[in-house]
Amino acid sequence: MDKCSFCGRTKKEANILIAGLDGHICDHCIEQAHSIVMEELGSKSDFKLEDVTLLKPEEIKKFLDSYVIGQDDAKKYLSVAVYNHYKRLMQPKDKDDVEIEKSNIILVGETGTGKTLLARTIARMLHVPFTIVDATVLTEAGYVGEDIESLLTRLLQNADYDVAAAEKGIVFIDEIDKIARKSDNPSITRDVSGEGVQQGLLKLLEGSIVNVPPQGGRKHPEQKLIPVDTKNILFICGGAFDGIEKKIAHRLNTQIVGYVASKDREKIDKNNLLQYIAPQDLKSFGLIPEIIGRLPVLTYLDPLNRKVLRRILTEPKNAITKQYIKLFKMDDIELEFDESSLDYMVDKSIEFKLGARGLRSICEAIMMDDMFELPGKDEKKLTVTADYASRKLEKVNLKILKAS
Ligand code: ADP
Repeated sequence: MDKCSFCGRTKKEANILIAGLDGHICDHCIEQAHSIVMEELGSKSDFKLEDVTLLKPEEIKKFLDSYVIGQDDAKKYLSVAVYNHYKRLMQPKDKDDVEIEKSNIILVGETGTGKTLLARTIARMLHVPFTIVDATVLTEAGYVGEDIESLLTRLLQNADYDVAAAEKGIVFIDEIDKIARKSDNPSITRDVSGEGVQQGLLKLLEGSIVNVPPQGGRKHPEQKLIPVDTKNILFICGGAFDGIEKKIAHRLNTQIVGYVASKDREKIDKNNLLQYIAPQDLKSFGLIPEIIGRLPVLTYLDPLNRKVLRRILTEPKNAITKQYIKLFKMDDIELEFDESSLDYMVDKSIEFKLGARGLRSICEAIMMDDMFELPGKDEKKLTVTADYASRKLEKVNLKILKAS
């Protein structure tokens, strides 16, 4: 009778029995072997900080420029913060008592303006493990949501369970604004989304040893936890902070009084108040001061205007149009977007308030028929014009693209 060559369980006793060349292994033994492998990998690491490609701040910004359009202030802040972060990791352990502190970052800007893209591009440049997590999964921690520790599971997985590498990685926490305390909502009787979660997050941001479930979630209560030190993990937080402009405007109005004030006030660009964001605005929004203190680098992203959207279509290294051109080229088809088609796509994205994300959906909708039909045909050239694009888009209800 078939049985596990490791523990002797029979086919009946095991859930699964996998046959090898000369024996069998059951699911219990696979799991056990897996955790041994993970433990081993955790204690051995090929990761060396010296392998991290660290460019100078201006070079970092240049690198970001080739993937992200505009957002110069955010790029500058990020470049400096990342540069300092890695300098801090490399600081010699001398006895001068000056310890460079960690510079976690918070990016405030409307959704779809490039926050995630910036964080992702930084990680791409550094070749360090990177993960994007969503703070909203934490809003009900302790109830049905995930524990704070599970934020690091994906990082560990992306580092192939190389704990030392993960400990020097970057975590992008999206939608950080969703865990703000909602003090103006009296109907909340329990602190489901608010201070409790922020306190938990604080532990991660300040740097502590966190026991991370290697498979995430709570589905595997028996799994062995892996201790991860968050001291050197760079956290980049992002959020839209809807309505924070009002808090900024309020602060600016109360701050500036008198004669000088009226002159200063004239200079304020009311169309883009986010550029004046300060830590106290985050506090008015509902982040606890301790969290704000652990996110010392605060910067903002500009809303995307027509000009920027237009550039996003063609300029970034992996711009959407470049991707389609490449796809078609693989079938020996020469694809070209003429100027009018690019303007048209931008117009539609603005008309339906789809932002930069919408550009992709629009382009996809325009190209769908041709991607389906052309590979089997003899035609080897396609030029997309505004006319052509509008005919293709007629069939599509653009409103549904908004959801994507
Ligand atoms: P956010 O995190 O701010 O919500 P993302 O970074 O996820 O937005 O942006 C969504 C998509 O829009 C990106 O994947 C990218 O294709 C495009 N995009 C947004 N902003 C820019 C930008 N400034 N430059 C280039 N592409 C951008």
